Order: sequence, then structure tokens, then C-alpha cells
Amino acid sequence: MKKGTLLNVCLALLFLCCNQPKTGDENLLNRQNINTFSIIIHGGAGTILKKNMTAEKEAAYKAKLEEAIRTGFDILKNGGSSLDAVEKTINIMEDSPLFNAGKGAVFTHDEANEHDASIMDGKTLNAGASAGTTMVKNPINLARAVMEKSPHVMLSGTGADTFAEEHGLSIVTPDYFYNERRFKSLQSIKDKEKTELDHDTKVSFYDDDIKNSKFGTVGCVALDKNGNLAAGTSTGGMTNKRWGRIGDSPIIGAGTYANNNTCAVSSTGWGEYFIRAMVAYDISALMEYKGMSLKAAAHEVIQNKLTRLGGAGGIVAIDKDGNMVSEFNTTGMYRATMNEKGEMNVEIYKED
Ligand code: ASP
Repeated sequence: MKKGTLLNVCLALLFLCCNQPKTGDENLLNRQNINTFSIIIHGGAGTILKKNMTAEKEAAYKAKLEEAIRTGFDILKNGGSSLDAVEKTINIMEDSPLFNAGKGAVFTHDEANEHDASIMDGKTLNAGASAGTTMVKNPINLARAVMEKSPHVMLSGTGADTFAEEHGLSIVTPDYFYNERRFKSLQSIKDKEKTELDHDTKVSFYDDDIKNSKFGTVGCVALDKNGNLAAGTSTGGMTNKRWGRIGDSPIIGAGTYANNNTCAVSSTGWGEYFIRAMVAYDISALMEYKGMSLKAAAHEVIQNKLTRLGGAGGIVAIDKDGNMVSEFNTTGMYRATMNEKGEMNVEIYKED
């Protein structure tokens, strides 16, 4: 082979190698990261006003948010996967009565607790979800099991509970989810329903305890050191829900979405609107098809699209470069962020 031809062959091979689709590990070498890993969480958005919050309550929320995010941060710092970070972080919030998920789930019209959850892996676009379960202690674990151990994306009701039992997940009796403040919220909403002719469905999110209405779903989004994004969301849904109502939280694309090429998102708010606006996927799509930044895409979807529809709530999200964004159109959202340096921000109100 002539010298010139050999050189051309080498150059062609080099070009081919450089343009191969990147695996997760190669991503690590090629990304221009702002953060090589990062994590963001929410504990629900809504009419959360400082004047209605006691110092003790505020401290309790902040402490639990901090405990949760540190759990995920440590996993990421030690090289763990974003999926593990999301699952374990959400477990901390599910096990706390402060949030409307797991132990703190709100009551249905029939005085039961029905849980919805979902999780998505941005590397493979695999996803898992469960809706309307009644005896699984940590619904996010069930969502992950559906993703990894079944050929399906979403299971519901008694079938999902059975699947959880068969896969050895923690099962509890209904009294585990009993929470007096949630039960009182249900009673006060039912009383209002009787007295108010114009039924404002927003009343279903009323939280007597902090004298305001809010959405207390929990969610987590993480980027790991391998460049893999993941998102998860877990909720008890809305107080006084009935007829097997399912919100956005277990709907992939509405409540949860993750794609390594764009971003990962977890939503909280008035679920019906988040489903109609396909909030989580829409943010990713604006980035993918319109080249928008995460910040601009999240602003467009929450402040323009969702708000125009009449929906309330917000999202937390991370893009493939580790940029973290929280966007909401309510007066507050329980939220926290941690970057690769371990710098933490825990916030509740809009003006924080
Ligand atoms: N999005 C949830 C639902 O509609 C509620 C929440 O975010 O708190 O079920």
C-alpha cells in the first residue's frame, strides 16, 4: 500500500472511531460538565407561605430534605448510579410523615391510602411505574422493580400489590399509613364539600396543618459520575380522590422523565394539568427539538404552557451537564440541591 493511501486509511479509521455513538462511560470522558454529578429533590409545591409556617415545622421540613439529599449525594459521590441515588433519596421522604408519599400519604374519599410512583433511567429510556397500590411501604421501590423485573412499564391496584409481594418488597398493613393530620384534612375537605356549592377541586389539596393548600408529592433527579440521568416521583395523590383517580406522578412523560441526551425531570402539582401538558417530557422535547437550555425549557412549560391551562405546581430537573433547575408557579416548593462540591441549598418559599 502506498504511503499516502495508508495515511488516508488511518485518518478515516480515526474519524470513524471519534464518531461512534457514545456509551455512558465514554460520555464521562467527552462531556463538558458543569457538575460531574449533582442531585435535586422536591417535597411538593403549593401555596406555602412563611406566615403560615411555624419555626419548628420549617426546621423539620428542612432537616428531612437535608437528610434525603445527603443520602443520594453520598451514593453519587461514591460512584453509585443515579437510579440508586433517586430510589434511596425518595425512600427517606417516603418514610417521613411530613410528605404526601409513603408513610405521609393523603387519604382517599373512602379513607384509604392509594400510592402512585414512577422512575426512569435516562441511559436506556427504561421506565417503571405503579398506581393505586395500598400495601407497599415504599412505592418507588415497586416502580423500580416493575422497570427491572417485569416486561411492563406500569402496574396498578391489587395486581401491582401482588407483584410487590412476589418480589419480596416491604409490605405493610393499612394502619402503617394512618396519620391524624392527613385524616383531619380529609374530614375538613368533606365538610367543605357539603357546605360549598361551587366545588373548587383545588380544595382537595388543602392542608389544615399549615393552613394552606399544597401538593406534597416527593421527587428526585440525579446525574451520576457516568453521565447517567435518572428521575423518580412518589405520591399519595390528592386528598379525597375517588374512583381510582390516578394523577401525573406515575405517568412517564408527565410526572417523571429522563433522557441522557437532554435532561431528567420530576413534577409536583395539580396532576390533571401535568398530564394534559405532558410537563416532564415537554421540557425534554423543547431541549431536543428546539435546542433550548433546561432553564428556558422549564420556564416555558411551567410559566407559560401550564399556567395558561390553569395548572399549578412545579418541577425539579437536571440537564446532561449537571445544571440544576427548579421552576414553579406556586408560592412555594419544598426543594433542595447539592452539587459535586457538596454545596447544598435547601429552600421552601419563592423568595428564598
Ligand atoms: N401531582 C400529584 C397528583 O396530582 C400531587 C402532588 O404533586 O402533590 O397526584
